[in-house]
Amino acid sequence: MHATNIGAIPTTSTQRRPPSSPLLTTLKERFGDRLSTSAAVLQQHGRDESFFPTQPPDAVVFVHSTEEVAFVLSACSADKTPVIGYGAGSSVEGHFLAVQGGVCVDFSQMNQVLELRPGDLNATVQAGVTRTQLNAALQGTGLFFSVDPGADASMGGMVATGASGTNTVRYGTMRDNIVNLEVVTAEGEVVRTASRARKSSAGYNLTQLFCGSEGTLGLITEVTVRLHPLPEAIAAAVVTFPNVRSAVQCVIEAIQHGVPLARAEMLDALALRAINAHSRTALREEPTLFLEFVGSQEQINAQTEVMRELTNVHGGGEFQWASRPEERSRLWTPRHHAYFACLQLRAGSRSLSTDVCVPLTALAECIEQTQTDIAEHQLLVPVFGHVGDGNFHCMVLLDPDSPSEIEAAEAFGHRLVERAIRLGGTCTGEHGVGLHKARYLVREHGQAGTAMMRALKQALDPHNILNPGKVLPRA
Ligand SMILES: Cc1cc2nc3c(=O)[nH]c(=O)nc-3n(C[C@H](O)[C@H](O)[C@H](O)COP(=O)(O)OP(=O)(O)OC[C@H]3O[C@@H](n4cnc5c(N)ncnc54)[C@H](O)[C@@H]3O)c2cc1C
Repeated sequence: MHATNIGAIPTTSTQRRPPSSPLLTTLKERFGDRLSTSAAVLQQHGRDESFFPTQPPDAVVFVHSTEEVAFVLSACSADKTPVIGYGAGSSVEGHFLAVQGGVCVDFSQMNQVLELRPGDLNATVQAGVTRTQLNAALQGTGLFFSVDPGADASMGGMVATGASGTNTVRYGTMRDNIVNLEVVTAEGEVVRTASRARKSSAGYNLTQLFCGSEGTLGLITEVTVRLHPLPEAIAAAVVTFPNVRSAVQCVIEAIQHGVPLARAEMLDALALRAINAHSRTALREEPTLFLEFVGSQEQINAQTEVMRELTNVHGGGEFQWASRPEERSRLWTPRHHAYFACLQLRAGSRSLSTDVCVPLTALAECIEQTQTDIAEHQLLVPVFGHVGDGNFHCMVLLDPDSPSEIEAAEAFGHRLVERAIRLGGTCTGEHGVGLHKARYLVREHGQAGTAMMRALKQALDPHNILNPGKVLPRA
């Protein structure tokens, strides 16, 4: 075990860099009412789902076009004022908290679906379009956009966090589903990261450089994403297991047998208790798999046959099945509400929501050790995950006014990350680094890897104006 010092997390302003009066005047002249300094708007843009104290920006600009984003960046660059991108505000690791103040660029009104290209299986949208908006625009085309991080996140935010979700096991993460990006640099220059070809060997992969960069290397203004044909048939199932290990092993062996599961979600007994209380369901309060199968009816029959056999081998119970859309929705809705259900396990609590990802063969061990840790430290922590990806989430419920509970939650999160890295995994599979996890970059990537990231940041953002204080640990 590495004796990494957790260190103090920089949750409050270290060095505020507010915009100068001339900069505010320039922005006001250009944007009029679309520049806001009202307290309510600033508070809303300085607080996320985490328990961190609110860190408001000094101003919020509601942009409509790439050209406007370029204008803001070039003005802020000249003033050396921080600029923070904001999509739907659903990130959970303190990503957009304005720890040094500055100007927040809100993309929610930059929400045009620019072009659907069914023949090329892709679509181009402005960064503020949400995933449900894109899927609504695709109705009637026989295609859909697959990445589903639970919240109705924006496409720019999903690229910026490298998001994924329940159907990643079949369709891949955001990284796998981007064709190209339009990005505005710190100095206000507009760059396109790739062509619309399905593959390319031309030069460095700029598209992937911006995926997961959390607004620290440039602001994303347009996203071209891959689309997938809607499956002919879909079937959903729910099945319980005597313990977490057997539920996880069942999914892993299904993947090793080549069963192309569309979704494979595991929830522990505590999460099921929360769901029953919240959704008034009567599900068994045991480790449970929520599964989805897609394909032709024959393919689904073959997949479910293998799954039944594996479930029997691992001591699973009877399957509850659903194939009609309304039945599937009834079966899966409790899973989709799990986050808010778990929050209600303890009135007035907030959550330290953290995720890690490990190789498939280490997943059962990692979750079991984590549950032992939870019991030993008497914490209230529902565990659930996209187990087909080796990814799971822990929600540490805490009283946000209790320093000792926050300290215990942080210590748990630290042990969890150390465990995942020790088992060959990563400190975050999908939520991202934000403010919370910058301190683990060296642990995960080593000094040389982290130095390479610093060199990239220095080259692309020499005045450190793009979402400062995030991703990279303090030097
Ligand atoms: C209930 C719930 C469930 C969730 N489940 C999942 C899950 O299963 N999988 C998962 O991956 N995530 C999950 N999340 C987290 C969240 O939905 C994702 O991180 C999402 O991708 C954030 O998108 P957003 O539009 O809300 O971005 P925001 O929260 O607005 O911003 C996130 C980061 O991206 C930057 N950013 C935003 N827009 C741009 C832009 N145009 N250009 C450059 N940078 C930008 C911001 O500065 C910030 O650093 C969940 C969140 C909630 C509340």
